[in-house]
Amino acid sequence: MATPSAVSDNLLAKYEPVIGLEVHVQLLTASKIFCSCSTRFGDPPNTNVCPVCLGLPGALPVLNRKAVEFAALAAMALECRINEVSIFARKNYFYPDLPKGYQISQYDKPLAEFGFIEIDLNENRTHESKTSGSKKKIGITRLHLEEDAGKSLHEGFADAASKTAIDLNRTGVPLAEIVSEPDMRSPAEAYEYLTRLKEIILYTGVSDCNMEEGSLRCDANISVRPRGQKEFGTKTEIKNVNSFRFVKQALEYEIERHIEILESGGKITQESRLYNAHEGKTHGMRSKEQAHDYRYFPEPDLLPLVVDEKWQTLIRASLPELPEARRRRMMKEYGITAGDAHTLTLTRALADQFESAARTAKNPRRVANLVQSELLGRLKAQGLELEQSPISMAGVTASADLVESGAISGKMLKDLYDLCFERKQDFPAVYEAEGRPEQSRDTSALEKLADELIAANPKQVEQYRAGKKTMIAFFVGQVMKASKGQANPQLVNEVLTRKLEG
Ligand code: ADP
Ligand code: MG
Ligand code: ZN
Repeated sequence: MATPSAVSDNLLAKYEPVIGLEVHVQLLTASKIFCSCSTRFGDPPNTNVCPVCLGLPGALPVLNRKAVEFAALAAMALECRINEVSIFARKNYFYPDLPKGYQISQYDKPLAEFGFIEIDLNENRTHESKTSGSKKKIGITRLHLEEDAGKSLHEGFADAASKTAIDLNRTGVPLAEIVSEPDMRSPAEAYEYLTRLKEIILYTGVSDCNMEEGSLRCDANISVRPRGQKEFGTKTEIKNVNSFRFVKQALEYEIERHIEILESGGKITQESRLYNAHEGKTHGMRSKEQAHDYRYFPEPDLLPLVVDEKWQTLIRASLPELPEARRRRMMKEYGITAGDAHTLTLTRALADQFESAARTAKNPRRVANLVQSELLGRLKAQGLELEQSPISMAGVTASADLVESGAISGKMLKDLYDLCFERKQDFPAVYEAEGRPEQSRDTSALEKLADELIAANPKQVEQYRAGKKTMIAFFVGQVMKASKGQANPQLVNEVLTRKLEG
């Protein structure tokens, strides 16, 4: 856990953090970026390799078309401009898991530039009230294509205590590197940026963004400057943090570390650091290389990459409706709240499911309400994701329609949902198994209640009979309360109207 800070709120307020993120996203192609080896995760070490990805002399790279299309699609979803011509470059450095001694990346001319992600820092975004919120655009400097390096293994084999093993299955796996402008001003903004970025990439389907498997990795660059100062301070880079929560924690720690150093008259060393989540601290790893240390030069074995208008148009055709646009449309189309729309677009699959259900539902708002009020709480209580819900969207819709028509009560729905979770069965199955229960249409108890209420509230009765028909809501409310929500509202209405008119 993070150590409690010595830096006071006063000092924190005196300095402004500046944050820029570099995110690596693995593109979900079946084969690697420059050879036909498989990209499958979890295969035995060094089984998916060939002369190209092993970096043997004389082996020639051939660019994977799909990797280009996936990267371009991601770039379009991030509002980037695609460069019609981009250049592959060699980034030279020595690392045990980089047998070639260089990584093929893009440098001067990346595939795409000048994008942005809109973030929204309104903490209430999941609640009803959200309207405009505090939106902010975070610039995306560039998105380029590159190959991944191999992996050093420090555990899970015989001599792990004394040796490091190298698995080269991952060398040559296609990555899109997405570099942000230093536009973020707090760890919370960084967290929000990553959340939106991941959401957008997932919608495009070009990556599974699985952080445990390394399909999404984040380097966080951070500096602080006295508020009001224009120039940026010296930055440090926190490498390869493996969850968004840890990125936030690491940034919080690092901000305080910078402030402490500056306040005590010291200087920040530009360097790469590693975050240890157990300690909640960052540690210096190596002083940061300058670009010239990498001796970048154009990759002589690859032609310039040309993605012309025609190809761009083809790629753009597969761009799905993106989460933010989808939320706006869904609010309008189904009359649901921003909070509902947010929940229902958490994944593209869920949004698809909801929409196909909502189109047939008697009342789409009720479907959205049930998801929020009845489904999510139960899922959370059992530690389940929405995709693991025993009740499908079609099930939610079926139940919503039954409540809508008055066949079952809200209370009955809750009980049936409990049974669905107990039995891990969808709503229609449980509803059938329970013999299609119906809320009582026996009016004798209702009539008795209505008579009592009418006798006890002469003033309201008088008002109703004098023409104030809306008074019926008062009586309906009283009956519903007395029946603990069990009564069928339609029936209550019928009985009361009859009595009051009579
Ligand atoms: P480097 O050459 O050290 O990798 P870049 O200019 O390529 O630096 O920037 C890398 C990342 O660091 C980008 O996301 C950028 O927004 C961010 N960045 C650059 N300067 C700063 C700074 N002073 N403070 C915080 N982040 C920064
Ligand atoms: Mg960089
Ligand atoms: Zn290969």
